[in-house]
This record gives sequence, C-alpha cells and structure tokens, in this order.
Amino acid sequence: MLKISPEKGFKTELQAPTAVLVTRRVTFAAAHVLRRPEWDDRRNKEVFGQCAGDHGHNYVLEVSVSGEPDPATGMVVNLKDLDRAVKQAVVRHVDHRHLNRDVPFLEGVVPTAENLALVFWRQLDGQMGSGHLQRLRLVESENNSVEVTR
Ligand SMILES: [Zn+2]
Repeated sequence: MLKISPEKGFKTELQAPTAVLVTRRVTFAAAHVLRRPEWDDRRNKEVFGQCAGDHGHNYVLEVSVSGEPDPATGMVVNLKDLDRAVKQAVVRHVDHRHLNRDVPFLEGVVPTAENLALVFWRQLDGQMGSGHLQRLRLVESENNSVEVTR
C-alpha cells in the first residue's frame, strides 16, 4: 500500500533557496563578418553562408548573477551596479562598432555568437560586485541565441 507522508512534502516546500539568480538585459548594435582570412572565398561561403559578408545585428545580452540577498537591501546585487559593470566591461567596447576590426579584446576571434559569448564571459567574470556570474545569454537574432553557464 502506498503511503503518502504529508510531513515530507511540507518540509520540502518550506526549504528556502539560499541563492537567487538575477538577470540584467542590455542591447547593443554591431557589425561583423564571419570568415577565416586563411580560407578562400569559396570555403568561407561554404562554412559561414550569408554571414561571410559584412552585416550587422541588434544583439541582446542577458547577464545573470547569483548570490544571497543582502538582508538590509533585499538585493543580490544592485541592478544599477550590474548595469554599469556590463556596460563598462562589454557594451561600451562593442556598441556601434565593427567586431572584426574595432574591438581589441576580439582581435583574432571569429565573432560568432558562441565566441562572443565566451569572450564576454571572460570580460565580465569577477566584475559582478557582490554577485557571482552564473549565466550569460547572447541573442543574435530572433532565431539564434547562445548561452554560457558556470
Ligand atoms: Zn551575423
């Protein structure tokens, strides 16, 4: 006979999570081209398709940090500080720029969404104040996004 223990279920429901994930969304516009300089045009077009020519995107970058809410403020991280950190570490370098030419920390990187997300992660890690960088999502178009998690 199956016995259901209401106490057990009740206890589980009362267990408070210790960490909270907070996400800030920022946007930027940038141009890029996907190509490897050592490959000829044909191979670049085969691999990268239409993205082998110059074009741009309106990117959406979501940065999530985790931590315990400060008992005084109720915040894991002050969103103003998080916003400032993301703009300082990433957005001011890439907004309205050509990602292949204008951004020193992207030099030599094929600026796919995957590579951008990994490089942005490196730029942001350790810059999140009281929160810990936990997740980064970069939306390149309405159909494409990539995500990096710890
Ligand atoms: Zn593109």
